[in-house]
Amino acid sequence: MLREEGIDARSFNASLLVEPGSLETKAGEPYKVFTPFWRAMLQQIEVPEPRPVPNRVPAPSHWPRSSALRDLELEPTIDWAAGIRESWQPGVAGAEARLRLFDRRMGGYEETRDRPDLEGTSRLSPHLHFGEIGPREVWHRAGRSAQSRAAGPYLRQLVWREFAHHLLFHFPQTTREPLRPEFLEFPWQPDRRSLRAWQQGRTGYPIVDAGMRELWATGWMHNRVRMVTASFLIKHLLQPWQDGARWFWDTLVDADLANNTLGWQWVAGSGADAAPYFRIFNPILQGKKFDPEGDYVRRWVPELARLGAPHIHAPWTASDTILREAGIELGKTYPEPIVDHDAARARALAAYHRTRSEGDGERAES
Ligand SMILES: Cc1cc2nc3c(=O)[nH]c(=O)nc-3n(C[C@H](O)[C@H](O)[C@H](O)COP(=O)(O)OP(=O)(O)OC[C@H]3O[C@@H](n4cnc5c(N)ncnc54)[C@H](O)[C@@H]3O)c2cc1C
Repeated sequence: MLREEGIDARSFNASLLVEPGSLETKAGEPYKVFTPFWRAMLQQIEVPEPRPVPNRVPAPSHWPRSSALRDLELEPTIDWAAGIRESWQPGVAGAEARLRLFDRRMGGYEETRDRPDLEGTSRLSPHLHFGEIGPREVWHRAGRSAQSRAAGPYLRQLVWREFAHHLLFHFPQTTREPLRPEFLEFPWQPDRRSLRAWQQGRTGYPIVDAGMRELWATGWMHNRVRMVTASFLIKHLLQPWQDGARWFWDTLVDADLANNTLGWQWVAGSGADAAPYFRIFNPILQGKKFDPEGDYVRRWVPELARLGAPHIHAPWTASDTILREAGIELGKTYPEPIVDHDAARARALAAYHRTRSEGDGERAES
């Protein structure tokens, strides 16, 4: 429209490394698998250096009349955001500070990126989402860093963000619908009480509850725990992934349509390059493996703080004496597990097999 009006208008891509739609398979199809997309990106795309910050951004000589920001009353009247304010410094300076901090730690990324009890990741996601730092800047700074030899795994993760935007561009319906049509028939069992217990971090599974409470308090959750909590909602509780995606959308400071959609469809097994549905995260083993001492749980679920590492991820396995000494009364101070893991797993697999066999019938899959 601007051009039709004779106004010189040009658009520049700064929010992504590669314009969505510009990478395709040899058959001219959109990539649906990450690794070939990543390889194609490395082979075909030269990421340009970011341009220097302009000395001056010319402002209009007369500003149009406008409302003041506070007139929009965007801030909630009940102040629930203290934890978010403490955790983040929004803006370019905050993004720069995070990148500088991470620069020193990048060498350990591969070993620590899956540990929610350690600060192993960059926490740049909200800054990238809001454009307070660009992916080109991150890409080149990581490449130039003193730890650049260790930058590969980190850059690969940054390219998952590209892949998510690429998928959203080609399959915009996936924000609402599964990419794999057989999942349209999935026998979800929507239930407000289950959803609520999950949202409030009261499922009785400590790693799930810790993640949901971290999310509520800070607006962010560690990637490993996003996978575990999403899997728990979808598979243990059989709640539609869209309900989980909506809650993340409302509560994440990095809520991003492309990344959130990819994440949820990946866990549900209904998306591109997704985890197979039958891979059901065991919240007890995930906790033991990625939060071995239980420090993450103790931080976010203080009612379990006095429980030792052997029982922290499954408090119901502790003896009455141990529970009493830790000041825990299951069902009162901390919930009993909302579902039994083995039974929930069996129920999820049965639902999945039914979906698959119906899907197979329709598509006569070989
Ligand atoms: C169910 C689910 C929902 C998610 N929703 C979102 C969301 O709304 N917004 C969001 O930014 N990320 C989302 N993610 C992806 C990932 O969890 C976050 O990007 C990551 O935890 C952000 O932390 P970080 O900046 O420390 O990541 P780092 O490990 O430091 O990674 C650097 C950057 O790479 C990108 N990135 C990393 N992992 C992924 C990934 N798996 N998919 C896409 N991009 C990635 C992010 O921009 C991130 O800031 C979701 C993942 C899951 C499983």
